[in-house]
Amino acid sequence: MQTTAEPTETLLATKNTIYAAKQRVKTESLQSLSPMVQLKQNLSDSDYTTQVKTDSDGTLKALFFCHNSSLELLQAYNTILFLDSTYKTNKYKMPLLHIAGVSGNNNSFSVAFCFLAEENVDYYTWALKCFSSVISVHEITPPEVLMTDRELALMNAIEDVFPNSTHMLCTWHIEKNILTNATRLIKDQDLVRKILSHWSNLIKISTPSEFYSSFSRFAAIYPGEFIDYVEKTWIPLAPRFANAWTKKITHFDHRTSSRIESSHSYIKTHLLNSQASLPEVVKLITLALQGQHHEIKSEFHQQKITALQNIHSIFSLCHGKISNFALRTAHSRYRSLNHEDPGRCHKNQQKRTGIPCKHRIAQLLHAGKRVDPKEFHTQWHLKVCLFFNFIPVSSLHSVSEVLVFFHLISIFFRI
Ligand SMILES: [Zn+2]
Repeated sequence: MQTTAEPTETLLATKNTIYAAKQRVKTESLQSLSPMVQLKQNLSDSDYTTQVKTDSDGTLKALFFCHNSSLELLQAYNTILFLDSTYKTNKYKMPLLHIAGVSGNNNSFSVAFCFLAEENVDYYTWALKCFSSVISVHEITPPEVLMTDRELALMNAIEDVFPNSTHMLCTWHIEKNILTNATRLIKDQDLVRKILSHWSNLIKISTPSEFYSSFSRFAAIYPGEFIDYVEKTWIPLAPRFANAWTKKITHFDHRTSSRIESSHSYIKTHLLNSQASLPEVVKLITLALQGQHHEIKSEFHQQKITALQNIHSIFSLCHGKISNFALRTAHSRYRSLNHEDPGRCHKNQQKRTGIPCKHRIAQLLHAGKRVDPKEFHTQWHLKVCLFFNFIPVSSLHSVSEVLVFFHLISIFFRI
């Protein structure tokens, strides 16, 4: 279509009228979104906390959102969080940063989401600052541990925004990366399998000095080009994933984020691959959140009133106070005392898992005492704060938040 600055006999639309019409359509379709103020006003009435990042011409570049009920769960379980950025091709070709936590009964839950136009340190820093300010407003303790894969921009952003948190690398992602590179550099598949098995033993070694000496032997056996890659990519980061260091971190035995990833595949699959309309996408997110919360909440109530069967009386003070998952773990440590000498206590197991180690249980048994719930990390305590109410999904279409999200996401993806 041609335009001209002044109307002519053949062309009635001028640049100005077209511009004005475009603006009108844009304004109408976004419900007068131009003033972000109105948008924020709408959002302040919804149960989502949202932040938007725009560039100088007002185009939305990032969208951060988290539901209040996720924050209630986070209030109870904030020691370790998993940050998983997904770059898989989707309809919009946009990465999605997903922050997830894990409950006292070892169920994962979504904490926050952020669509990012770019995956550089500035964008990640912006997303994490949004998250940091939300948790600060709700007086939630910042996470002690953050686990990611080796995304350097995200790792730098974490160091900047959460300097007091410990960063851990997911060992599953590392093994996947090692497999890819080993397969690329080494044609012998048997050798590749041997390398992977050797590597998984290496990262279980219990002291840094043994780790390095064992790695020297590892390096002497396998092809130089592959070892160069491992030395350059992984060895400088060993304290973030190798047991020799991470055994002293309270990570509740989470060494990978893959379990969290698989449990969130529902959200990802629908968000990134579905051709559903955007209100449906939002509905799916909300539905998934609702499912997670329902599960965690009903487990909480069940554990409050039903004592676990076949648990030794040394744990009797813990019934209704400590989660079934933690009690079962403690009980299996107690059982192991029957057939193995507990050996010397290095306090690592208790520190790492927040659950009394077999040495501590043996000590209490010997003294004729019972295990006090305080012996367990607060992660494993049944919390009384989980009484939130979730917006019924069936009413979502009628609430303003869906419209607001629809418009936010629409302008973000320019559709
Ligand atoms: Zn011990």
